[in-house]
Amino acid sequence: MKATSQHQDTLLELGRIDLQLRRNQRAIDEITRGVEVQAERQLLLVNSEKLLVARNEMDALDLELSRAEADLALVEGRIAKDESRLQQSSNQKDVQGMQHELQSLAKRRGELEDAELVLLERKDVITQNLQVIGDERKEIQARLEALEQQQTAGLAKLNSGQQLLREDRVRSLSQLTPELAEHYEKLFSRGVGVGKLDGLICDACGMTLSGDSLDSARNTPADELAHCGECGAILVR
Ligand SMILES: [Zn+2]
Repeated sequence: MKATSQHQDTLLELGRIDLQLRRNQRAIDEITRGVEVQAERQLLLVNSEKLLVARNEMDALDLELSRAEADLALVEGRIAKDESRLQQSSNQKDVQGMQHELQSLAKRRGELEDAELVLLERKDVITQNLQVIGDERKEIQARLEALEQQQTAGLAKLNSGQQLLREDRVRSLSQLTPELAEHYEKLFSRGVGVGKLDGLICDACGMTLSGDSLDSARNTPADELAHCGECGAILVR
């Protein structure tokens, strides 16, 4: 197939454009997959579960605490009532009875106060845990936000680059004859469309040409298209 040296240069330019389009597409696919973003989203999910568990623990504990406080208030109320009755009573038997009951109530109050202390200590632990989980959550969210911004910016840049390359591609194709354009597209759809003969090496496939392949490339007239005997790409000499 005939091709002027200008056409052959255009074919090489087209090859460079297509190579860059493929590279960019791979980069776009990689950013879209967003392995790091996915990892951070997974961490956020785990953190949400921990947060839920800790908040449920806190709710349950607060309920226990309010019950303990109510029990304690009840006992303290009984103690106050008994003490005032004790002061007013002169009946020996009643006094003994009330003193006995006050002893039991004091013991009960002590138990309830101890139980409340245990609950308050557990509340401290859960509060600290919630703080740690909350801090971790903020860090994950900040990293995720930064990564998502990078992702958006990276994609925008690559996509606008692709747009320009596609325009260049259309322009290069229009500078070729329809036959050459069709021939290139056919080769390109199978892999690499064009390469330059760099010494003895076809830079489309990286193979060193020898024997018949090299002879064939060298013997092809300058205004005819040569092809790589290894990969089949148009070989520009
Ligand atoms: Zn080749």
